[in-house]
Amino acid sequence: MTELKLSESRDLTRIERVGAHSHIRGLGLDSSLEPRAVSEGMVGQIPARKAAGVILQMIKDGKIAGRAVLIAGQPGTGKTAIAMGMAKSLGLETPFAMIAGSELFSLEMSKTEALTQAFRKAIGVRIKEETEVIEGEVVEVQIDRPAMAGAAAKTGKLTLKTTEMETVYDLGSKMIEALGKEKVSSGDVIAIDKASGKITKLGRSFSRSRDFDAMGPQVKFVQCPDGELQKRKEVVHCVTLHEIDVINSRTQGFLALFTGDTGEIRAEVREQIDTKVAEWREEGKAEIVPGVLFIDEVHMLDIECFSFLNRALENEMAPILVVATNRGITTIRGTNYKSPHGIPIDLLDRLLIISTQPYTEDEIRKILDIRCQEEDVEMNEGAKHLLTKIGAETSLRYAIHLITSAALACQKRKGKVVELDDINRVYNLFLDVKRSTQYLMEYQSQYMF
Ligand code: ATP
Repeated sequence: MTELKLSESRDLTRIERVGAHSHIRGLGLDSSLEPRAVSEGMVGQIPARKAAGVILQMIKDGKIAGRAVLIAGQPGTGKTAIAMGMAKSLGLETPFAMIAGSELFSLEMSKTEALTQAFRKAIGVRIKEETEVIEGEVVEVQIDRPAMAGAAAKTGKLTLKTTEMETVYDLGSKMIEALGKEKVSSGDVIAIDKASGKITKLGRSFSRSRDFDAMGPQVKFVQCPDGELQKRKEVVHCVTLHEIDVINSRTQGFLALFTGDTGEIRAEVREQIDTKVAEWREEGKAEIVPGVLFIDEVHMLDIECFSFLNRALENEMAPILVVATNRGITTIRGTNYKSPHGIPIDLLDRLLIISTQPYTEDEIRKILDIRCQEEDVEMNEGAKHLLTKIGAETSLRYAIHLITSAALACQKRKGKVVELDDINRVYNLFLDVKRSTQYLMEYQSQYMF
């Protein structure tokens, strides 16, 4: 692996979709880090958002190295939303990766590999590249071989010079005309049909081609009329270390980024990538953008995972680690010891702890309003009122799910605005956890024989 492959990932990095948290655009803080009641998609949870804002400030001041954040709170109280809000507030390019503790124990890869992948998904690399962009009339073409001196399209002659010989091609007027019209940039590979003078763009190449003779002449430099040779333009790409890993691990290929089926990535691949990225950083070609890694259900991690986290936090490229749990005192997996949140003391020691509180009806209503807007769903007052009650009695997440299904029920009856009946219909169609367990309890005797 001499050249790292990057281009394939460029288009994949920022795919926006209406996901569960797509309405979260930041933490909704004002310039003095005070949370606004409703802002950037965030509602309520004022003390937690304020604390998250202080942590953001510490991150910006470079004072969080080696530490992490724990968000403790009941399910559906916005722990993920706050972590995502932190990432969004750090900048558009800041990567956000999330994984649930239980996901680490899959059969496909070791838990440390899964954690490594999660960490590398949360480390961005901003790569600066210079490309040569030339605008203007083409008057002279040089061939992609230093030994061969320039060719003057102006004179209608293309001269190839080597130390041993000199060949002159007559380009013909058609070709000169075509070269003039064609927007050829430095690095473009073109094929020139000597008979018709037709130019075909074959692609771009910044390297010298060994297949020179087979492919025909290649344009390396195109000179502008005023003699200015090249205009350089800086292009910046942002990718994650994980994306670079996947693209460069020969067995996987970049399609694995879509399927998520990346398998284990060999240690040598990662070492080579780290060396290359370190070189780029030294040459000023790349910068590291630490992102946010969110680990939900952190109490599901075992003692080995916790020691991995302790080590990983020491790395200078480490992302901001935000972990979440809804457990109080519980056993640390892989040991016989109990501890707060099931987290070993040495890691607890590094944590800044934030807690989230259950929502009031008014806050639930506001979150549902925002989700309706996000999903482009129109809903009348009665329906919203009922959905808010459902949210308060069951869970916020269940109520959010009902927005989508109620909108489908509305569409089915060719309605435009979701009404009370639509909510009723889907409420009866899809059970919340309380009703589904109750149902099973009532009928369990019939299932057991
Ligand atoms: P769990 O413990 O089950 O993982 P959680 O505490 O991480 O839950 P979220 O997934 O963040 O909860 O919240 C559930 C849904 O409600 C998400 O769609 C989230 O974006 C939205 N949400 C939660 N809190 C807020 C908030 N304060 N403002 C706006 N939306 C919120």
